[in-house]
Amino acid sequence: MNKNHHKLIILGSGPAGCTAAIYAARAGLNPVLIRGMEPGGQLTITTDVDNYPGFEKTVQGPWLMEQMEKQALSVGTILINGTVVKCDLKSNPIKCILDNGEEYYSETCIIATGASARWLNIPTETKFRGFGVSACATCDGFFYRNKEVIVVGGGNTAVEEALFLTNFASKVTLIHRKNTLRAEKILQDRLFNNSKINIIWDHILEEVLGEESPLIVKHAIIKSTIDSNLTKLDVDGIFIAIGHDPNTKLFINQLTMDKENYILTESDSTKTNIDGVYAAGDVQDKIYRQAVTAAGHGCMAALEAEKFLSLKLKTL
Ligand code: NDP
Repeated sequence: MNKNHHKLIILGSGPAGCTAAIYAARAGLNPVLIRGMEPGGQLTITTDVDNYPGFEKTVQGPWLMEQMEKQALSVGTILINGTVVKCDLKSNPIKCILDNGEEYYSETCIIATGASARWLNIPTETKFRGFGVSACATCDGFFYRNKEVIVVGGGNTAVEEALFLTNFASKVTLIHRKNTLRAEKILQDRLFNNSKINIIWDHILEEVLGEESPLIVKHAIIKSTIDSNLTKLDVDGIFIAIGHDPNTKLFINQLTMDKENYILTESDSTKTNIDGVYAAGDVQDKIYRQAVTAAGHGCMAALEAEKFLSLKLKTL
């Protein structure tokens, strides 16, 4: 075995990846955890977390992830800063190449690469992305002090982002394509009771208008989903919060996925269609998508990898 040949490689450092690492390290597998493009995952771009068990008071997402990673490190995980750019899951051993060209080989792999914010993909959204159009209120909300912003979407993310933005913006308008929200009731109550928030139902974002150089957002054109009427709003910032897509591009044509490219796993298991390859967290879960469920999957994946390795060693 060369120095980069391991028993277990874990891709991604969100709750699924970190929990897998904690369990695998404690089982003596000396796992390597590749931290990925967004170390700590989506919780690092949220603020208040009050539904992760174990904390009486609200904790901060970035702090929670820091603790998980520290725990993984303290029990023997090898943390690697980097992103996997190529992965041959069918080779034996599995081969992963990092963005710095380094190669890692492993007997087993846990894919915990999570999901990323979805965009509407209308041309003017793309044009103004980073210049007044954002998918992360926690990252960019600060720039909208005393300004007017809109948030597009009707799920938990959209409502949380709208609420968070009221800390800065003078007015927040939530635009939703239906006339009911799918966000949890407790969040809806907070939204409806916040005097800074206005809701425009049954509309979608049609176009973003602004100045050219430098690029600055000035208006949003929204379209009614009922009669297609267009309305022009004065806005300084636009936050897109319409859900997430799994980060599975590297594994297309290797792993079995559903039509939205979520990795399919066996029932009551994290096993994929390739022996020794497991998927945990948002990369395979489009239903629950919670930090705590991702952590649970990470635990399952590590236990399954451990079992696989012990059977493999017995048959060698
Ligand atoms: P969701 O998939 O729950 O919601 C996406 C929202 O965007 C829906 O309201 C959807 O509309 C709307 N939407 C989707 N595509 C478009 C489009 N092209 N144009 C306009 N609107 C669109 O995603 P979230 O990111 O909000 O949440 C993902 C998961 O994460 C959920 O399971 C959620 O519960 C969880 N979560 C939990 C949190 C917590 O517990 N505190 C915080 C944040 C997220 P429609 O309703 O019409 O389909």
